[in-house]
Amino acid sequence: MAKRIIGGIALVLIALAAVVLVRTLLLSYDLMEVEIVERHNFDDEGAIERLSTALTYPTISHQQPAAFDTAAFEGFLDFLEASFPRMHEELEVERVGDYTKLYRWPGTNPELNPGILMGHYDVVPVEPGTEDQWSYAPFGGEIAEGFVWGRGALDDKAGVLSSMEAVEYLLQTGYQPERTLYVAAHHDEEVGGLNGAAQVAALLKERGVELEFLVDEGLPVAEQIMEGIDTPLAMIGVAEKGFLNLELSVNREGGHASMPPRQTSIGDLSSAIHHLKNNPMPGRFDDLVKNTFEPMAPDLPFVYRMGLANLWLFRPIIERELTNIPHTNAAIRTTVAPTIIQGGIKENVLPARASAILNFRIHPRDDVDGVIQYVRDTIENDEIMIRTMPRARNPSVVSDHEAPAYQQLRQSVKEVFPNTPVTPSIFIAASDSRHFRELTRNIYRFRPIRARPGDQTRIHGTDERIGVDNYLEMVQFQIRFIINSTS
Ligand SMILES: [Zn+2]
Repeated sequence: MAKRIIGGIALVLIALAAVVLVRTLLLSYDLMEVEIVERHNFDDEGAIERLSTALTYPTISHQQPAAFDTAAFEGFLDFLEASFPRMHEELEVERVGDYTKLYRWPGTNPELNPGILMGHYDVVPVEPGTEDQWSYAPFGGEIAEGFVWGRGALDDKAGVLSSMEAVEYLLQTGYQPERTLYVAAHHDEEVGGLNGAAQVAALLKERGVELEFLVDEGLPVAEQIMEGIDTPLAMIGVAEKGFLNLELSVNREGGHASMPPRQTSIGDLSSAIHHLKNNPMPGRFDDLVKNTFEPMAPDLPFVYRMGLANLWLFRPIIERELTNIPHTNAAIRTTVAPTIIQGGIKENVLPARASAILNFRIHPRDDVDGVIQYVRDTIENDEIMIRTMPRARNPSVVSDHEAPAYQQLRQSVKEVFPNTPVTPSIFIAASDSRHFRELTRNIYRFRPIRARPGDQTRIHGTDERIGVDNYLEMVQFQIRFIINSTS
């Protein structure tokens, strides 16, 4: 009898193993046959020079509006006009919300909804005291060691300039789009985009424009994503997380610290934060994450592939693994980070009030109200007041990765970056594209910037730079995408 049971179990295990193995082997590549296209012969030296010059304008978005440097912004716009003469001559150009430029390239077929390429040319300041740590001056636009160096090289002047290089080149070749194309260069993304992107979106809406697609800054072509994987991965942001700051505060009777009551304001607040840390919102390896991983499956080590192909069995293990790495954790759940804590003025006085600010990044599965409810339920303390701070916003919808525009992005990547799987992914940061939610469902956040581990600290940090060859690839990509999406 025992023998039969063991035999039965063994059979079940063998069957299980067979299923796991077959599913693993069936996992497919991101196969898309693209025709070899010839490189477009644009003015590459000039393109690098223009990017370099663009970086010399300190178009800084300051938190204090009074620090705004009008001359830098005006100078930059004059520079664009001088650098891309045909674009300024042959396209419809208008100035929106002070310093934002909107271009319209009318297509021959008015039946087609227009697309928009956008980016921002404002940059964050260089943190005082870190100027010396830069290898080249942050506003020098130096070309050295195979890179163009300076604030804005990655975020996002290369994005703005590369799309203009592409338009200028295509105008020179006599290209005529069938689909109308807008190009927008926003000027205040780093401080919320209310005068730039939000105004452009309002204007287009007022004119009754419906957009077929929107491409904005976003995820890169990631290299060396994992040890042993040499294949780069082009990640297209199909969703963007929401944002919420909550202030938690406790008001209790203060008093002398020599006879503390069992409950104090700082004590209550601390245990609330502790509870939230130990009970994170659920993370899930859902379709969004699965779609991100799947196209790179063939390059993954066997055990990862096995897990991925057999989520029915390994999902809990995978979710636990992803939770342990900060950036994959952020991709699978709403995260919380305590960022400010206040309370107390003297070492022997119990403060009456203590408060903390918690910063939430909301996963597309959740929303603002749901997060507030989760906080209430988790801290289980009515003495703690919860206040929603301004600027809260829900996550974006998840854009369709089967829509034509996504497929055109994918095709354009493959034409310029051979053997690069393309995956729909979640964008953890925020972009101006959120102002356009009512104009299109097809929002994609992507820049073909080759990024290696460690490069992310250059964005908003020290030694921001972009590879000369990589920038030329960006221009090629923009040309290909304009052709693929508008003809
Ligand atoms: Zn940016």
